[in-house]
Amino acid sequence: MSERYQAILLFGAPGAGKGTQGLLLGNIPGFFHMSTGDMFRTLDHHSEVGQLFDQYSSRGELVPDEVTIKMWREYVHAQTVLSLYKSHSDLLCLDGIPRTVAQTQAMNEYIDVRGIIHLVASNPEEMVTRLQKRAIEQKRVDDAKIEVIRNRLNIYERETRPVLDQFDPSLIHEVNAIGTPAEVLGGILRVLAPIQAAAHSTVPN
Ligand code: ADP
Repeated sequence: MSERYQAILLFGAPGAGKGTQGLLLGNIPGFFHMSTGDMFRTLDHHSEVGQLFDQYSSRGELVPDEVTIKMWREYVHAQTVLSLYKSHSDLLCLDGIPRTVAQTQAMNEYIDVRGIIHLVASNPEEMVTRLQKRAIEQKRVDDAKIEVIRNRLNIYERETRPVLDQFDPSLIHEVNAIGTPAEVLGGILRVLAPIQAAAHSTVPN
């Protein structure tokens, strides 16, 4: 591929609010939200990859890197072909990927990361409460059990947090994850609005 997608990463522990914020951002012109959790959840549960996803996610584990990257590439491609994601004018807001160092390295060929929003909660127990609330509201089996939540948080610390070390620290912006969705969005937009303006000035529309 000749041109890399200009992207920003929504980063943070499970329950930090990446999905909520991603949906809000995706409603703003020029931002295209893409969640790998949503991508996996829309799979046919009878398909091979759908069953693989159920198997891993029900234990709070990550889908293997190779499958994840392959699916993500096909998913982005489909969105570009459908003209839902306009890669020449939209900033791609990635929510839930990359989640391992291997994914980060594999994606380097396809994305140009312009900024990373690191949603940070001062009180990690707040994340557990949010995940339990969401499990009930959205009928998410992965978060219904406290052991699965703990496993997800451990995997985040072990596999996902090291992703941050792969990037220049100047790209990483910490945003307070505690607050109303509007307050958190305010923190995110203060960072992203200038990044978006700069990205658009270097990309033909
Ligand atoms: P979260 O609540 O952490 O935001 P997601 O909805 O993003 O969870 O993801 C749900 C599940 O999908 C994960 O537990 C994992 O099994 C799988 N998944 C999502 N993104 C990835 C990824 N980048 N790599 C591997 N597995 C993933």
